Amino acid sequence: IKAHPESLMMSYGYNPFWSEGAVKCPIYQSSTFVFKSAEEGKAFFEIAYGLRNPEEGEQLGLIYSRINNPNLQILEERLCLWDYAEEGAVFDSGMAAISTVFLEFLKYQDILLHSIPLYGGTMHFIEQIFPTYGIKNIAFTHLDTKETILKKIEGKEDKIKMIYIETPSNPTNTLIDIEMCKQVADYVEEKNGNRPIIVVDNTYLGPVFQHPIKHGADLVVYSATKFIGGHSDLIAGAVLGRKDLMQRVKTLRTFLGNMAGPWTGWLMMRSLETLKIRMETQANNAEKVAVFLKNHPKVDKVYYLNYIDEIFPGQGEIFKKQCISPGSMISFTIKGGEKEAFKFLNSLKLIKLAVSLGSTESLAEHPYTMTHIDVPEEEKKLAHITPAMIRLSIGVEHYEDLIKDISQALNF
Ligand code: PLP
Repeated sequence: IKAHPESLMMSYGYNPFWSEGAVKCPIYQSSTFVFKSAEEGKAFFEIAYGLRNPEEGEQLGLIYSRINNPNLQILEERLCLWDYAEEGAVFDSGMAAISTVFLEFLKYQDILLHSIPLYGGTMHFIEQIFPTYGIKNIAFTHLDTKETILKKIEGKEDKIKMIYIETPSNPTNTLIDIEMCKQVADYVEEKNGNRPIIVVDNTYLGPVFQHPIKHGADLVVYSATKFIGGHSDLIAGAVLGRKDLMQRVKTLRTFLGNMAGPWTGWLMMRSLETLKIRMETQANNAEKVAVFLKNHPKVDKVYYLNYIDEIFPGQGEIFKKQCISPGSMISFTIKGGEKEAFKFLNSLKLIKLAVSLGSTESLAEHPYTMTHIDVPEEEKKLAHITPAMIRLSIGVEHYEDLIKDISQALNF
């Protein structure tokens, strides 16, 4: 039957009779897989190395866990259901997923067109690693329009091979219009026949509350460490999207050897069973927390998607078009500066003072001196990242307890 993704997370892609009737997919903690015959081994390798096309109904058999493993294959099929993707690949971190996509699709003298702010690790890769490969970049912000972006790339259209965006952005939840990026890609294609691929980091809202492929993205990347893993107990990444592009991503993954291991894959499959209820509970809690913060006399601004249009006029339109929910990430500025922000952070009792996000437990951190410490001052200013800002990732606790904790921590 055609069912919703949440109905399929317990069973899709797995036959209990492969494993003595076990209702749950076991961990295939095996580096290598036995061939039934030498002929079968030869056929598997021919397909794996693309030496011939598979015959009707012929599938790539299991060879070696750097190439394929049942835990990863089943997990990848399940991830595709959430994102309307044709194929997926899981990695041993979000950065492994992102850097593999960059290395596969960007070559010497190519230009990456990307939004800012981006996750610090992604930005480090662009600023520090790209120059060693002769790859360049052009940045734009949520304030740019299609017209201002086209102006920025004027005369260099033939070099633009990828448009990479993070939406919502970290830590202020600003949005980039994916359909607008598609129009930029259309323009570049019309101009010189080369179509840049559109890649969206969907970590903040996906895979439940935003589906970039529906809006024109070619690939979606994730830090699966966040909502997909969801329990702050693993590091992983994922890339999902069009089959032809994913074949290339998977081939490079085989030779970089940065796939996730079977144990991490199994943990993520377990996490996917509760993905929707976790994300919905987190979003419901966040809504209550945001309302409380908005009405608190010690709070200045609340950077939360339901209120995004008040701080960044026009962004509400993109939110309505592109996002299914405001999610569970809230940043706010406290009246005062670093001293007041630190007082608040040091006073929290239930909410943990830690970076990362998307997990069952609520976390709080100080972007200015922690996650975004090495963002240049000018960019910090542009992105509203001030010493008074606190970022919250809201978990699945009872919202009344979260509000009580925030309330007592603001009471200095
Ligand atoms: N993308 C975003 C939006 C992130 O927040 C992070 C990590 O914080 C990453 C990518 C990198 O993921 P990982 O830490 O799993 O390598």
